[in-house]
Amino acid sequence: MATERTLSILKPDATRRNLTGKINTLLEDAGLRIVAQKRIQLSRAQAEGFYAVHRERPFFNDLVTFMISGPVVVQVLEGENAVQKNRDVMGATNPANAAEGTIRKTFAESIEANSAHGSDSLENAAIEIAYFFSGIEIVG
Ligand code: ADP
Ligand code: MG
Repeated sequence: MATERTLSILKPDATRRNLTGKINTLLEDAGLRIVAQKRIQLSRAQAEGFYAVHRERPFFNDLVTFMISGPVVVQVLEGENAVQKNRDVMGATNPANAAEGTIRKTFAESIEANSAHGSDSLENAAIEIAYFFSGIEIVG
């Protein structure tokens, strides 16, 4: 397995409840290294751009409104098999279906306010990382 980088977002429900440290502990305990991180307030246009692939989904407008309801923490995670590993640590999209010990099972409020985002492929990880970070902001 190769060392990979993936994009993670700690969503507004997590920042609002002061959970970023607890979530980072789960990520780090799984062997993921936070090689870039910043707390930002997304604009509507920025959130729509990030979730453009979901534009036709019925939940798109609600999702964008949620994602701009407070600050987010955007991160680059690095490690062996980082894309899938982060998906495993996050758990299923719907916290009701997420495994014990995962971020979403432990912290998510709902299928929408589910605390974390993780890239779903290596290709999308590269696109999503470039959406938020320049090369010199990532320190491996
Ligand atoms: P994931 O974040 O697990 O990759 P998706 O890419 O399918 O899931 O969806 C992106 C985000 O949209 C989810 O994390 C969640 O915040 C929201 N979402 C997904 N499905 C629904 C739904 N059925 N109702 C409301 N929000 C949803
Ligand atoms: Mg997704």
